[in-house]
Amino acid sequence: MIVKADLHIHSVLSPCADLEMSPVNIVMRAAEMGLKLIAVTDHNSTLHGPLIRTLAEQHGIYCLYGAEVNTREEIHCLCLVDTEDQRQSLQAFIEQNITRIPNNPDIFGYQVVVNEHDEIVQEIDYLLHAALVKGIDEVAGFVHGIGGVFIPAHVDRPKYSVTSQLGFVPPSLSYDALEISRNTTVDAFKRNNPIKPNTQFIRNSDSHFPNQIGTSFTEYNLESLSFKCFKDSILNTGSSTVLPVI
Ligand SMILES: [Zn+2]
Ligand SMILES: [Zn+2]
Repeated sequence: MIVKADLHIHSVLSPCADLEMSPVNIVMRAAEMGLKLIAVTDHNSTLHGPLIRTLAEQHGIYCLYGAEVNTREEIHCLCLVDTEDQRQSLQAFIEQNITRIPNNPDIFGYQVVVNEHDEIVQEIDYLLHAALVKGIDEVAGFVHGIGGVFIPAHVDRPKYSVTSQLGFVPPSLSYDALEISRNTTVDAFKRNNPIKPNTQFIRNSDSHFPNQIGTSFTEYNLESLSFKCFKDSILNTGSSTVLPVI
């Protein structure tokens, strides 16, 4: 089946995201946009994953767990996992390794976990934007070690990307795909950046507002709507595939 996916969505938990990015609103908008696979990738947090998965299932949408982790080099990376055990492992890894800087909501924005009625159930008091003390290779190694998928985010962007921070995509970096923004094409990126052959590219919205959800997406040809088939498609194992992003 052809599955339309947006795997980079921020919820209200991200300090920079709109307060309208509640779990309920995210899922409603994803359904309106015809998405069948989503991932809520807040900055350095997975805490909205379980509620959004539950709500998404009611619309026939599968929600991967994950986070947009900020590495020691200030490189944003999508870390995607599936089971509750994996999510908790990723969350613990982040909490153990994030630089603890108190959040000032007036400057950076609120960082709240809400329930299905949009009531606040938790507020995170340290800044979720902060970098981890772990470098990108260590984060990639950790994510792969728990069976997750590791994708450097918006690699063409002039901020918080592997190219902006390191100047290039290191040949030794163990990534499963690269995410490009809507501002470039695969060919244009490859022209300017030598990368490993057979690198898979995906595109997502990096939504911070509801009306951005699904405006950039990738289509996957999956045998079934599952993390296993998504992972097969990204890793080029099995018969599920990523449809070309241009
Ligand atoms: Zn980012
Ligand atoms: Zn993002």
